Amino acid sequence: MASNADWHTRSRTALWHPCTQMQHLEAAPPLPIARGEGPWLIDYEGRRYLDAISSWWVNLFGHANPRINAAITDQLGKIEHVILAGCTHAPAVELSERLGRLTGLGHAFYGSDGASATEIALKMSFHYWRNVGRPGKTGFVSLQNGYHGETLGALSVTDVDLFKDAYAPLLRPSHQAMSPDFRLAEPGESAEAYALRAAADLEVWLAAHAEETAAVIVEPLVQGAAGMAMYPPAYLTRLRESCDRHQVHLIADEIAVGFGRTGTLFACEQAGIRPDLMCLSKGITGGYLPLACTLCTDAIYAAFYGPATSRGFLHSHSYTGNALACRAALAVLDIFEQDQIIARNREKSLEFTGILAEVAAHPRVRAFRQQGMIWAFDVVDAPPGFSSDFHRSALERGVFIRPIGATVYFMPPYVIDTADMALMAEVTLGLL
Ligand SMILES: *Cc1c(COP(=O)(O)O)cnc(C)c1O
Repeated sequence: MASNADWHTRSRTALWHPCTQMQHLEAAPPLPIARGEGPWLIDYEGRRYLDAISSWWVNLFGHANPRINAAITDQLGKIEHVILAGCTHAPAVELSERLGRLTGLGHAFYGSDGASATEIALKMSFHYWRNVGRPGKTGFVSLQNGYHGETLGALSVTDVDLFKDAYAPLLRPSHQAMSPDFRLAEPGESAEAYALRAAADLEVWLAAHAEETAAVIVEPLVQGAAGMAMYPPAYLTRLRESCDRHQVHLIADEIAVGFGRTGTLFACEQAGIRPDLMCLSKGITGGYLPLACTLCTDAIYAAFYGPATSRGFLHSHSYTGNALACRAALAVLDIFEQDQIIARNREKSLEFTGILAEVAAHPRVRAFRQQGMIWAFDVVDAPPGFSSDFHRSALERGVFIRPIGATVYFMPPYVIDTADMALMAEVTLGLL
C-alpha cells in the first residue's frame, strides 16, 4: 500500500490544490487521508487527526456516518442523477418541500457549490427587478470583510483582498458597508450599540442608492472567512427593516452558518427575520456531496412566472438537483429531527465553552467569542507564519486545525464528544 510520502509527491505533480501556493507544499506537504471515522481523519500510515474545522466547515455528523451512507447507498440503487430540466425526482422534490417549510421560502433552485448559490441569488435578484419594470436596480451591497465565494460574480461581492486583488480588473464594482463585527466597536461601545451604528450607516447609504441597488448580501451573525467575526442579531433585524423600506432584496448567505452552526437551524431565525433569498451549501449534505440551494420568496418566484421564456430564470448547472446529493441532504434533515441536534448542540456548546475557560483567560488570547458551534479567538502579537506554524504543530499533536491569520477557531462536527473537546483545548493551550 502506498505510504504518505508517495501521495505527497503524486499529489504535488498531478493536482492543483485549492487556496494554495503550490510551492509551499514542498516544505509543508498535504495530509494524505485514507479514511474517516466520526470526527477523525486517518492517514495512510494509520495516524489519526481530529477534524476541528469540519473539513472546511462542511461536515456535520462525522465522516463515514452510517445513516448518511445508508441513504446514499439506497439512492444509488434507484437513480443517481437525471437532468432536472424536463424531469423531476423524489429526492429533489422532498428536499425542496422540507427546506421550504424550514425557511418559509418556498422555491428552491439548486446548484453545486456555495459560489454558484451566490451567483444564482445575484442573478435572480437583478432579474426580478428587471421583470417588474425596474431594470436600473443593478447594484449589490455587501459587508466589509464579507465572503461569498470566488467565481467572478461572487468575488465581486466578496471583500477579502487576498482572494480579490489579482482579479480586480475582472470584477464588477459593488459597495461594501461597515462590518458589524463587534471587534470594531469603539472603546466602551457595546457590541449591540456598534452593530446598530453599522446598520444606521447602511440605512443612510440605502436611502441614497435604492434606485440603483438590487440587493444587500450578508453572512448572518458570523462572517466566516473574515476570521469568524461575530455580531448580534439586532443588526439583521434593523437591516431587514431598511431593505423593506427602500425596496432592496436581502440575501442571507447561510452557506457556512446554516444547518445549526450558530445554534439555530438557520442564523436568520435569531433575528426573527426572513430574507428574500437564502443561499445554502456546505453542511446541506453533511459534508458528503457538492450541493447548493438558493431559496426565494413567492413574490420573487411570481415575477418570473408567465408565458414568455425570457421572463423565466434561464440558469442551469449540469448537476442541478443531483439525486444522490439531495438524498444525503434528506438524511441530514432526518438526523436533525430524530436526534434533536439543535437542543443537544446547545448542551455541547456550553460544555466546550467551559472546557475552553483556560484558553479564554490566557494572556495571549483576545476577543474570545462563541456562537453556537463556532468558537474563535485572536492571538496577541502573532508572529508572521503563525497560522501555518500553529497548523503544523497541532497536526503533530493529532488535531487538524487551520487558523485564519491570527485567529484560531474551532468548528467541529456535531458528533464531537467530551474527550475530543478536551483534546482540542489541551493542544491549543499547549501552543499558546
Ligand atoms: C464557503 C462559502 C461560500 C462559497 O462556497 P463554495 O462551496 O466554497 O463555493 C460562500 N459564502 C460563504 C459564507 C462561505 O463560507
